[in-house]
Amino acid sequence: MNREALFKLSYGLYVVAAKTGEKENGCIINTVMQVTDEPLLLAVTVNKLNYTHDMLLQSRTASLSVLSVSTTFDTIKQFGFKSGKEYDKFVDVPVSHTGQGLPYLTKGCCAWFDCKITQVFDIGTHSLFLMEVLEDDVLSTEEPLTYAEYHKSVKPSPDKILKSVSAESRQQTGNHSAKEKKIIGWRCVICGYVYDGEELPPDFVCPWCKHGISDFEKITE
Ligand code: FE
Repeated sequence: MNREALFKLSYGLYVVAAKTGEKENGCIINTVMQVTDEPLLLAVTVNKLNYTHDMLLQSRTASLSVLSVSTTFDTIKQFGFKSGKEYDKFVDVPVSHTGQGLPYLTKGCCAWFDCKITQVFDIGTHSLFLMEVLEDDVLSTEEPLTYAEYHKSVKPSPDKILKSVSAESRQQTGNHSAKEKKIIGWRCVICGYVYDGEELPPDFVCPWCKHGISDFEKITE
């Protein structure tokens, strides 16, 4: 098995949002696909660990924001690396609302869909939602953001972050050479997840943002 093969599949990036009562919430997904034209159905999978997943099951309605190439990393962090359980992800985010009253992004978003969930399939770690599109529109002429383009242009370069971290530590230690310090963990420079332990397994993937070990920095004593 060569896991690299999966990187050759192309994906877009989206915010799927739900609303229950007054609570609005959403998360980043890369799994949206049109499956039929009449009726107009989309297949969308969402990880069961996401709070949005439970809200979708409850509300049976969803909006989809198609992220565009002008999406900032802040938007990815806001909707991808935080939990809507403790945090209002839509605070200070420019949005408009669909006919069903669901929020969609108006910045860094090139199109949106307002959907009714018609069927749900339990597929283990995720649920597969079949969604019928009730309404949609195009917001801008910008190209949609692909997952590959996100890795190339949107996520911050770990090299840049590591350089600024090492410049900071040089300043702190002045001209004295720092003693070898014991490694006590590794921090994901993309989302801040901390792995406890001296050695990071070579195939380790960040459980929060799904980035690999090249995006981790050492934490020393
Ligand atoms: Fe991460």
